Amino acid sequence: MEPLKERKEQIHRSGEEPFTLVCNKDSLAGAVSQRACVFCGSRVVLYPIADALHLVHGPIGCAVYTWDIRGALSSGPELHRLSFSTDLQELDVVFGGEKKLSAALLELIERHNPAAAFVYSTCIVGIIGDDVEAVCRGVGKTTGIPVIPVQSEGFKGNKRAGYTAACNAMARLIGTGDTRSISPHSINILGDFNLAGEIWMIREYFERMGVEVVANITGDGRVADIKRAHGAALNVVQCSGSTMDLARMMESEYGIPSIRVSYFGVEDMAQALYDVAEHFIKDAPEILERAREIVKEELEQLLPRLAFYRGELSGKKAAIYVGGTFKAFSLVKAFRLLEMEVVMVGSQTGTEEEYRELAEITDPGTIIVDDTNPLELTSFLEEKRVDIFVGGVKERPIAYKLGVGFCDHNHERKEALAGFSGMLNFAREVHSSVMSPVWRFTPQRERLETVPELLEVNR
Ligand code: SF4
Repeated sequence: MEPLKERKEQIHRSGEEPFTLVCNKDSLAGAVSQRACVFCGSRVVLYPIADALHLVHGPIGCAVYTWDIRGALSSGPELHRLSFSTDLQELDVVFGGEKKLSAALLELIERHNPAAAFVYSTCIVGIIGDDVEAVCRGVGKTTGIPVIPVQSEGFKGNKRAGYTAACNAMARLIGTGDTRSISPHSINILGDFNLAGEIWMIREYFERMGVEVVANITGDGRVADIKRAHGAALNVVQCSGSTMDLARMMESEYGIPSIRVSYFGVEDMAQALYDVAEHFIKDAPEILERAREIVKEELEQLLPRLAFYRGELSGKKAAIYVGGTFKAFSLVKAFRLLEMEVVMVGSQTGTEEEYRELAEITDPGTIIVDDTNPLELTSFLEEKRVDIFVGGVKERPIAYKLGVGFCDHNHERKEALAGFSGMLNFAREVHSSVMSPVWRFTPQRERLETVPELLEVNR
């Protein structure tokens, strides 16, 4: 199937010259984008702050759509897992929802005693023009906790605008806590959301290196930690799309430098530890030594166990479609380590520079795609005859309908895929999905089995 004419400029095949790929633009109407709305973008970022109240100001559907949206674990309070909504109805739309919002906030704060409250604006709130800022200010004064509006009306742009709204909301907390006891060798972890407990693993690596973690932003996040995040010496930013705005703001406001990392795959995980250690090399060279020891220890355990999966998976084909490109880069490298071939890679929110880099590191003919849709994905998976598709909840049914293995690398997963042990989990999951006998009974396999030369290609 040919992509829609208007979508062609958002698709590129590695090796074609010159490199051109248009991105960071509104989704094409009617193309059924895989992207979420602005509100959803802000909620996925803020949601893991576990001791905050998250109140969705809008119709109940917006809250349901994003209820418990990430498998973000907490080591303590779990208030984030409750979904609160003002449930705006027709009369509220006509006469305004401010009173309802104020009453809901007062009741919920009294009942749950949160450390802060985030109030998310949805589409309809932007249309009727409720003064959410004023209501939050009033309730904040009455209750004595930070009540922060998140300007995330769904129609305001694409998912990236939601990330910015979330960063702006967190910026209002940062700078209000006491930073006196913070070590000079300290970091904030930005852009990890503690899916399946991943941030605990990452924190442990840093702590073994002798680096203090001030705030998790936002996996297993706490309001008090975020308030004092401006006391850290370095921001370590993963998933740069979602929290890079916050890192930039903290650099201009508090002079905190930032580095970009990824914790997925062996190479990137090791590099993340080395990059943090390098930052402190002048006055604490022992941190780099400890980082080297950790990497050595972890690899000694991991590599022999990976060898089995590499042998079985060598030559199989993978397609990747994820939220941000940082993960796509790491996945390309992780598949390479497993000797698999990446034939398609795309994201919802990548930049031109990132896609150019992806085109450079992938094999000729690899499809690079921005903000795609189900029909395009279907045609790419069929054309490339992939063995496994890596994506999130919206991509899963596409893979299963086609009879292709699937690996969830997004919000809902229950398996840790970050860190060194995460790489082993990833290999194990890819292996069991690709090698599952169930694909023998799928329409794709049946079709292939009627055409022997295609079956040969698929092998
Ligand atoms: S904010 Fe708007 S686009 Fe997003 S879920 Fe609600 S109604 Fe839909």
